[in-house]
Amino acid sequence: MDYTEGQGWHSPRIEPYQPISLDPAAMVFHYAQESFEGMKAYRTAEGQVQLFRPEKNAERLQSTHERLCIPTIPVEDFVQAVKALVDVDCDWVPSAPGTSLYLRPFTIATEPHLGVKPSATYEFIVIASPSGAYYAEGLDPVKIYVEDEYVRATPGGTGFIKCGGNYAASLAGQMKAHDLGYSQVLWLDGVKRKYVEEVGSMNCFFKIDGVIRTAPTVGTVLPGITRMSCIELLRDWGYTVDCDTRLSIQEVMDAAHAGKLEEVFGTGTAAVVSPVGKLYYEGDEVTVNDGNIGEVTQRLYDTLTGIQWGVLPDEKGWIVKV
Ligand code: PMP
Repeated sequence: MDYTEGQGWHSPRIEPYQPISLDPAAMVFHYAQESFEGMKAYRTAEGQVQLFRPEKNAERLQSTHERLCIPTIPVEDFVQAVKALVDVDCDWVPSAPGTSLYLRPFTIATEPHLGVKPSATYEFIVIASPSGAYYAEGLDPVKIYVEDEYVRATPGGTGFIKCGGNYAASLAGQMKAHDLGYSQVLWLDGVKRKYVEEVGSMNCFFKIDGVIRTAPTVGTVLPGITRMSCIELLRDWGYTVDCDTRLSIQEVMDAAHAGKLEEVFGTGTAAVVSPVGKLYYEGDEVTVNDGNIGEVTQRLYDTLTGIQWGVLPDEKGWIVKV
């Protein structure tokens, strides 16, 4: 659908997948006024196609739009747009275990204009692509490099929203980690480079001496939908979860050396829950839980994927059927 100043959002439609035409002066190319979301449609064994908490993606897109001065999209319109596309593309939702239809809603500033100001026109688009099982043969622990040179986010910036620029800025750190043999970067806070924030495309949890900790999302960390779902489940199960106090990388490394770093895992739409096997920080590499998958990590993975693929009952009302 399109947005035109004075007219608001209009012309919702579903079109065949094809290249779109934009003016070379379209503001998105120059000033990066762009937002996006990432979500999935799942097919249950009975053939039902369903979404996981799509209204949370809608709300997060709204906060991205607010920060980037893009006109807001009502939650109901967002959910309706995603459902309508999945309905049309229903045959593309794969049925093999662990597979899904990945959905990418995004908004771009389309006004041809050189000069920084909010665009007067936008396009909101949703594209879909079948996606294979992230873990074909069970959870596989990842190796993480704690980045101490580049930063991903600083207070007052855009770290808490989902916009392309955040990811462009994270590439150099990501490439450095890859070259050193690590699959993901763990970002530290941009001011003191002291506190753990998040992994490339996942929030990060640490179980230290029985307490589960994850970075607060105020200001610089993306409020992941998997993160909020995990916090809720963990509290239901009786775990103490601290998601309000910042955790320093030194505390994490000290806990590892004292044998108290029990589990580390990332959470995100793509991998759902991803165990972390190794952490590297300033010349020191520690192995978490002897490289094994932790009990909490496995339980969260089984529960969330169980709900998403309809194997477990949706007791929390997180599922929206298409
Ligand atoms: N942090 C970043 C930077 C991400 O890109 C993602 C993926 N959207 C996440 C965290 C996890 O968010 P979610 O659980 O909503 O996928």
